Amino acid sequence: MKIGVLALQGAFAEHISVLKQLGVTAVAVRLPQELDGLSGLVIPGGESTTISRLMLDYNLMEAIARRAEDGLAVFGTCAGMIVMAREISGNSVPSLRLMAIRVRRNAFGRQVDSFETPLEIPVLGERPFPGVFIRAPFIEECADGVEVLARLDNGTVVAARQGKFLATAFHPELTDDLRLHRYFLDIASGE
Ligand code: GLN
Repeated sequence: MKIGVLALQGAFAEHISVLKQLGVTAVAVRLPQELDGLSGLVIPGGESTTISRLMLDYNLMEAIARRAEDGLAVFGTCAGMIVMAREISGNSVPSLRLMAIRVRRNAFGRQVDSFETPLEIPVLGERPFPGVFIRAPFIEECADGVEVLARLDNGTVVAARQGKFLATAFHPELTDDLRLHRYFLDIASGE
């Protein structure tokens, strides 16, 4: 199975490394033709304004949206989740509009810029997942058809799935817990 990682800006190298540890072919994607033959695409964290602008500059916005319509699985983390959202509140950026979610950028404010907290993610089993949040967004609203995968203790939604699309407000690639990437590979292979 071949998985691409959008490598325009942000934490793409870490995703490539995790995917390789899981034994799949992982390639950096910077051009539309590099989407050919992929079963899945990871959109990393970073700065959504920059990632969104470069996607437009490199003609990737349309190319990814089209491939996603044709069944490409997509996994966005943090800024990647922002560019997958149908709606972005606050400072919006052009997005792929793949998932029927409304996200808020930099939602935790300056006081809690970054934090780490164990998350219960039932689809991954009982052991909590280490949630690493860095100037993170959260999901304010999910439409029907979106499955909530994880919430903070106060109820805030921080991970969701809609069919072949997976999004997390946090950074699984910065931990040594491989379960979310493995879960994405299951989605990409049609499970
Ligand atoms: N704050 C960033 C944004 O709004 C996201 C941060 C991240 O990806 N770690 O794009």
